[in-house]
Amino acid sequence: MSKNVLVTGAARGIGKGIALRLAADGHDVAVNDVAAHEAELEAVAKEIRETGRRSAAITADVADSESVTAMVAETAGALGSLDVMVANAGIAQVLPLLEVTPEDWDRMMAVNARGIFLCYQAAAKQMIRQGNGGKIIGAASIVAHRPFALLGHYSASKWAVRGLTQAAAMEWARHGITVNAYCPGIVGTAMWDLIDEKLAESEGIRKGQAIEKYSNLIHLGRVSVPEDVAAYVSYLASPDSDYMTGQSVMIDGGIQFS
Ligand code: NAD
Repeated sequence: MSKNVLVTGAARGIGKGIALRLAADGHDVAVNDVAAHEAELEAVAKEIRETGRRSAAITADVADSESVTAMVAETAGALGSLDVMVANAGIAQVLPLLEVTPEDWDRMMAVNARGIFLCYQAAAKQMIRQGNGGKIIGAASIVAHRPFALLGHYSASKWAVRGLTQAAAMEWARHGITVNAYCPGIVGTAMWDLIDEKLAESEGIRKGQAIEKYSNLIHLGRVSVPEDVAAYVSYLASPDSDYMTGQSVMIDGGIQFS
C-alpha cells in the first residue's frame, strides 16, 4: 500500500538512497535538506517524480524547531498526510575528546540529537492528529552500540538517538506508532570521506588508509552502500515490520554483533 513519506537529509548519501528506494517501493516521498543543498535536493525530487511518484523538496534545518514543524505541515499539505517519517539528517566530526569545544558538542547534539527529537515529535503529533498510526524511523549508527575513538561526541549523539527511539516507542505505541532506528556501519558517502580524511590526518596515514583499516573489521568484506541501509528502511516502512518497535538494528556487514 502506498504511503506518504518524509526523508530528511535526502540530498545525497544514505538519505537519497532511502528516498529513491521508498519511491521505487511505490510510496510518495517528500525530501528535505539544508538550503545549501537545494539544487541536489530538487534533483532527487525530480528523479522521484520521473518514476511516477509524487514528491516535494523542502529545505529546512532539522535543528530548528519552527522549521521542523513547518516542514511536517508542508509534507502533509503536499502529499495529503504523513505516514512514515525517516529522520536521517546528521553530521559527523572527527576530534579527540580533549579537543572538543562546548560549541562542537552543542552543534553535534543540535543536529544529531535535538534534530532527530524534533522530527520524531513533529511527526508523532501529525500522526496522532491523523489517527491512523504511523512509522517513525531514525538514523542511529553502529557507534550507538560501540563508539569509535575520535568520534566521541558523534558517538554520544547516536547513543541519544537509540535511547530516544526506545522511549518514543514506549510512549507512542498506544497511538499505533512504531519507532525504530537503523545503525549503519561504514557507508561510502561524503560523511565517510570526511571521517577518513580527518582520521588519516590524526593518525599520520594517507587518505584512504583509514577507511581501509576500519573496513578490515567488516566480516562481509566490503564497505556498505546506501542501498544496503535503504533495503532495511524499506522493511521498516512496510507492514512486515508492524510488530517491531524500539529497536536500533545494525546494518554493518557484521562488524558488531548485538
Ligand atoms: P552525508 O553527509 O553524506 O549526508 C547527510 C545529509 O544530511 C547531507 O545532505 C546534509 O546536508 C544533510 N544535513 C546535515 N545537517 C542537516 C540539517 N541540520 N538539516 C537538514 N539536513 C541536514 O551523510 P550520510 O553518510 O548519508 O549519513 C546519513 C545519516 O546516517 C546520518 O545521520 C549519519 O550520522 C548516519 N550514519 C552514517 C554512516 C556512514 O558510514 N556514512 C554510518 C552510521 C550512521
